[in-house]
Amino acid sequence: MTMVRNDVGIFTERGGTIAFLLSKKGIVVVDSQFPEQSQHLIDELKKKSDNPFKLLVNTHHHGDHTAGNISFNGIAEHILAHENSKKNQEASAKNQKTEDKQLYPDQTYTDTWCQKFGKEELCLSWHGPAHTNGDSFVHFRHANIVHCGDLVFNRRHPFVDRAAGASIKGWMDVLEKGLNKFDNNTIYVFGHSGTGFEITGKTDDLKKFRDYLGSVLRFVEAEIEAGKTKDEILKATAIPGADEWKGDGINRPLTAAYEELSAQ
Ligand SMILES: [Zn+2]
Ligand SMILES: [Zn+2]
Repeated sequence: MTMVRNDVGIFTERGGTIAFLLSKKGIVVVDSQFPEQSQHLIDELKKKSDNPFKLLVNTHHHGDHTAGNISFNGIAEHILAHENSKKNQEASAKNQKTEDKQLYPDQTYTDTWCQKFGKEELCLSWHGPAHTNGDSFVHFRHANIVHCGDLVFNRRHPFVDRAAGASIKGWMDVLEKGLNKFDNNTIYVFGHSGTGFEITGKTDDLKKFRDYLGSVLRFVEAEIEAGKTKDEILKATAIPGADEWKGDGINRPLTAAYEELSAQ
């Protein structure tokens, strides 16, 4: 658990990074990892504050961000996510027969949502399909900290959830909108990062990830034009122009780019 700025901190144990706000008007938590991790977080936050848990936010539906919701049962007053995130969470729980392990948002929004918590104002915004079709930027406006959820994989190959409406082209647009909306003083919190890289960062890190996505699309497009098959393209071990992205999982963006480009 690390404080980042003002009353906003982050918690990392296993799964997508969690952010929290310890305001005098109550506690806000963004994302919930898994049940055990969430319980650890709740225990730690209770040591720091006697105030009630006002709100749990899910940046999107994936299990490494929502499976811990259940630990907030009877603790968090409300759970909030984009309406597509809630639909996706319900659909994947049904698919995986884990409906009894879920706690779903009781509040949803479509474009933007803002609420004050003491001195802090929390604003969620949705800008279209990206990592899924239900990703929010979660902005603590006063602290000027944005939890990006999985809209940013910092120097790590991303999962692109096409079954849940993801789009690499859309993702680049969403990051561009974020870059226009926030400023150079904004601290960004990332869902995941590569080995040796931070889970917080600045404008330049968003730009780099947007450019990485562009490099993935350009590379796969050129390979398709050169007559390569999907299997041949998936043999690549690096994305030209994105040499900071190393490690496992390169097949995920390559597959998604191939499918996205050949579906046109
Ligand atoms: Zn994640
Ligand atoms: Zn995700």
